[in-house]
Amino acid sequence: MTHSFDAWRARSPFYDESHEAVAQSVRRFMAQHVLPFIDQWEIDGELPRDLHKKAAEAGILGLNYPEEYGGHSEGFDVFHGLTQTEEMAAAGAGGLGASLMTHGIGLPPILALGSEEMKRRIAPQVLSGEKLIGLAITEPSGGSDVAQLRTKATREGNKYVVNGSKMFITTGMRADYLTVAVRTGGPGIPGISLMLIETDRPGVSRTRLDKMGWRCSDTAAIHFDNVEVPPENLIGPENGGFAGIMRNFNSERLGMAMGCCAMARVALSEAVEWATNRETFGKRLAQHQSIRIKLADCARQIAATQSWVDLAAWQSRNGKGQPADYAMLKVQATRMLEHVAREAAQVLGGASYITGSKVERIYREVRVNAIGGGSEEIMLDLAGRQLGYT
Ligand SMILES: Cc1cc2nc3c(=O)[nH]c(=O)nc-3n(C[C@H](O)[C@H](O)[C@H](O)COP(=O)(O)OP(=O)(O)OC[C@H]3O[C@@H](n4cnc5c(N)ncnc54)[C@H](O)[C@@H]3O)c2cc1C
Repeated sequence: MTHSFDAWRARSPFYDESHEAVAQSVRRFMAQHVLPFIDQWEIDGELPRDLHKKAAEAGILGLNYPEEYGGHSEGFDVFHGLTQTEEMAAAGAGGLGASLMTHGIGLPPILALGSEEMKRRIAPQVLSGEKLIGLAITEPSGGSDVAQLRTKATREGNKYVVNGSKMFITTGMRADYLTVAVRTGGPGIPGISLMLIETDRPGVSRTRLDKMGWRCSDTAAIHFDNVEVPPENLIGPENGGFAGIMRNFNSERLGMAMGCCAMARVALSEAVEWATNRETFGKRLAQHQSIRIKLADCARQIAATQSWVDLAAWQSRNGKGQPADYAMLKVQATRMLEHVAREAAQVLGGASYITGSKVERIYREVRVNAIGGGSEEIMLDLAGRQLGYT
């Protein structure tokens, strides 16, 4: 028995041969198109554009998106998505999933609220990997308090004129499209709209941001200076954008929680391999009881979190998920990853500190999971309020 996801799936009521088929297919994609190149992409600071097309051809980009817009939903559900996330973590580089799958946050608001014309225009291009899309909500003045966002879209005749800035935007340097949260009305949530902005519009400029982790994912600060946008680019009703933003929350948090489990398994595998080969004081590291306990304790925490991820996925599939559950699950998963990354680094000793090892990379990526997609404090406060602890 091991802590591997294959072993987990084989003994779980939620997974069957169809998930094994997805795992095998993503594994082939990773072996051929990702693993030999990931270290270079981490140095380059971005993924090559043609990787998106290759991922589309492998069925990865379109998994669980409607067939009529270029996706593959027939016979797939959320557990196939989790399986895919697991296999993509094999690179030990979270930026791969963050940037290759950034349509996972940029596209759903369009599919949920956009006009039929917009869905047919945008989704097939994105799901085929021809065009890239990102989601731009966070601003230099803050990301947690979305209700206070300042980027303004002013109606002038038959167009909107957009002014303002967005911060920390994933795939921001390469995206062709951005789903942008703008203020079209008064203060607070009722004044927010979502708008599709093509990044080649005059007045859009972007600046690359270097980061502690997720280095193969390009991250940008984006500035809108009198950018003219036609009204048909509104996603959903004017001043009704917050509903579109909220639609992403549960699935993004579930996906991030699964990503943390997957990365923790990679870190633990590296630590186990090291501990079974490295000798200290005349025996292998794993033969020292304190090291074995450390490793088993990591496996325990991963199993507990994965159990919750699977339950939350089942609840999502059956329409029984509560926002508080996903918010708490995300915190559970990021704290678990924080612990496992620390312990794996400790087992590897100095080797964990050398650039290029998977554990070194995963250790650097712990924080972004606890901050992006809703920070720890905001998640627990949301859960506390929904649980009635006020
Ligand atoms: C690598 C990376 C990629 C990202 N990608 C995207 C993207 O694609 N699109 C996008 O829109 N955003 C993206 N983000 C932004 C991310 O969502 C925000 O960083 C996050 O929401 C937090 O916002 P902030 O950084 O402005 O922190 P702030 O909101 O300024 O908060 C700072 C700290 O204070 C805490 N805090 C805030 N308010 C409270 C409170 N009331 N009580 C207690 N504590 C509080 C927060 O938890 C946080 O720890 C990305 C961020 C990173 C690092």
